[in-house]
Amino acid sequence: MLTATTATRSLFGRLLCLLAMSALWGFSGCATTPYRFGAAQWYRTSPELEATTASQPIERGQPNKVLDTFGWIWGIPNKIILWDRRIDDHHIGAQTEAAVVDYLAKNELSSVKVRLNQYHPGDDWRRLAANDSVGAGWRYTLGALSVLGETILPGRLFGGDHFNPFTNTIHIYSDVPAVAVHEAGHSKDFAQREWKGTYAAVYLLPGVPLYHEAKATNDALGYLLTESDEQTQKDAYEILYPAYGTYVGGALGGVFAGYGTYFASVLGGHAFGRLKSEQISNGTLPESQQVQLRPSSDIKTTVSTIEVDGQTIERIGVDFP
Ligand SMILES: [Zn+2]
Repeated sequence: MLTATTATRSLFGRLLCLLAMSALWGFSGCATTPYRFGAAQWYRTSPELEATTASQPIERGQPNKVLDTFGWIWGIPNKIILWDRRIDDHHIGAQTEAAVVDYLAKNELSSVKVRLNQYHPGDDWRRLAANDSVGAGWRYTLGALSVLGETILPGRLFGGDHFNPFTNTIHIYSDVPAVAVHEAGHSKDFAQREWKGTYAAVYLLPGVPLYHEAKATNDALGYLLTESDEQTQKDAYEILYPAYGTYVGGALGGVFAGYGTYFASVLGGHAFGRLKSEQISNGTLPESQQVQLRPSSDIKTTVSTIEVDGQTIERIGVDFP
């Protein structure tokens, strides 16, 4: 239970966060705490897709020095914009893999595929055909175009972490746990939608991505504040805020021409993300006050307690069957 002072403080903190985000970007980008884990019964998924995914949700591309070096170099602008050399790294470490596996398991997302630096268009086309949770009208037009794009402009070369709602597949090229969890956040958002194709199509309209991106980022932040270590939480604010800034910049770019607004938005994201990250170090992040334990479920969990900066934090480990 929250005491009156912590409740007031966290309310004040959220208000401040909302105000600052609105001033910066005209939209909220604040962690949703206490975090709400997803449950299988909330989702509208394709049984056929689930049957082929559940046994092997994660696939990893074979390392290839030539391809991966090209990809690393091609990704330099993104590394600079988000100020992190692990963006479009094309080498995905165990921590990033574990982060996305845990997120999907704890949110009971069993029909989502994850490709770690992998090019596998044959399977993407199969998944497109099998995914009847998206209307055929959208799947064989916009969906087919999206898979065609992934086939001829492979992320294996050109990077760009993303979630494809038509194939229900997450493509990861960056070695950043928070980025992988953000993409998984899109999959949770889509899983709950009835009109998935329409929800995907409106993303192409100016300004609309701000809504989808805020959903995924808020979910990722709430999840990571509940489930991850301090460094991952700091990374999340320092990378996901400027990443959101790129969408704000994109949206404003339609109104004010020129790169000035774009870079101002990204820099605003960096500044605000670093402020939140500092609050984590100091133990003053308002959202942390509201973090609660996961309710009991059929996933076997082990709870442990650790001390971080003088605060007792309960952490939950999952034992996979
Ligand atoms: Zn996103």
